[in-house]
Amino acid sequence: MTQNAVGVEFAQRLTENPTTAERRAAILEDPGFGNYFTDHTAVIDWSIDAEGRGGWHQARIEPYGPIAMDPAAAVLHYGQEIFEGLKAYRHADGSVWTFRAEANAHRFNRSAQRLALPELPPELFVESLRQLVSVDRDWVPSGDGEALYLRPFMIATEAFLGVRPAREVSYRVIASPAGNYFGGALKPVSIWLSEHYARAGHGGTGEAKCGGNYAASLAAQLEAEANGCKQVLFLDPYNDNAVEELGGMNIFFVFTDGRVVTPALNGNILRGVTRDSVLQLASDRGLSVEERKITIDEWRASVADGTLAEVFACGTAAVITPIGELKTAEGSLVSPAAGPDSVAMSIREQLLGIQTGAVEDLHGWLTRLA
Ligand SMILES: *Cc1c(COP(=O)(O)O)cnc(C)c1O
Repeated sequence: MTQNAVGVEFAQRLTENPTTAERRAAILEDPGFGNYFTDHTAVIDWSIDAEGRGGWHQARIEPYGPIAMDPAAAVLHYGQEIFEGLKAYRHADGSVWTFRAEANAHRFNRSAQRLALPELPPELFVESLRQLVSVDRDWVPSGDGEALYLRPFMIATEAFLGVRPAREVSYRVIASPAGNYFGGALKPVSIWLSEHYARAGHGGTGEAKCGGNYAASLAAQLEAEANGCKQVLFLDPYNDNAVEELGGMNIFFVFTDGRVVTPALNGNILRGVTRDSVLQLASDRGLSVEERKITIDEWRASVADGTLAEVFACGTAAVITPIGELKTAEGSLVSPAAGPDSVAMSIREQLLGIQTGAVEDLHGWLTRLA
């Protein structure tokens, strides 16, 4: 048992077959994204007692491995699931830090409300990361742009086929060493305009970080790949084809007069922590930032009249990635190349610098994990 600030004890059962240092070094050489997992996992269970009160219990660290689950578990049938994604960064002195974890904890609880799952106290969320990273700290890479990706998630484990919120739930965290999300050196990506599929609709789950949104985006993703693109852009066809976001990243536009624009949160769009950080860092620089509706017609017009300077996507996994081209069935919209002085590249540098401890953390965004 290890005691901690939240007063919840995490039982510790460590693996009897830890990855050897040689094997780990070989993995960290070129981790890619989401391919390898550390030796342990953090778990906390939730259930409703006889009096109808829900509670979290049995917080623990255990060896990474398959989850034994009843085939009738609700998550397997009705998709009652949410997740988060954030990273642990190694600083030059060897310490390990995470970025705006409280924001992820709060977003996790908003997702939980939408999917009728129990909320997890934010301090317990952060503590679960600290517990896992403490036992698996050797897995945090130190290479340029590398980090340990943390994936907290919550699933409905109750064996019951009736349709209602599950009374047994499991919260877990797994961790995966991560390099460059798109692989290779950073270069502008081409994205595909989805005109037949939406990932979210009004009143739906677009603002929740749930697996179902990703399942809904995959057919569009296949269409994108068939057209040589790695990501999909979704519009809101019921709102003048307003730009929403990519399958897993928010989108930004920079105009030649210096305005930085991103679609306003409208219930369909995921409330990205990177999105919020970019808005903050851009306004710190004195740039004028706008969260508003931006339509595909405005995008087309600003390419045509030369007032669009940059388009970029952002999210924890890929940080900031310039968008070189929007491909559509009717032709493509090309953005100017993003040089090192572009807003995209210079905010990317600053953000990575804050995360890895090389640039001052003026907003108090970092929390030490190990
Ligand atoms: C996670 C996610 C993002 C990015 O959010 P960050 O907090 O910046 O990582 C954007 N869009 C969708 C659909 C997402 O799931």
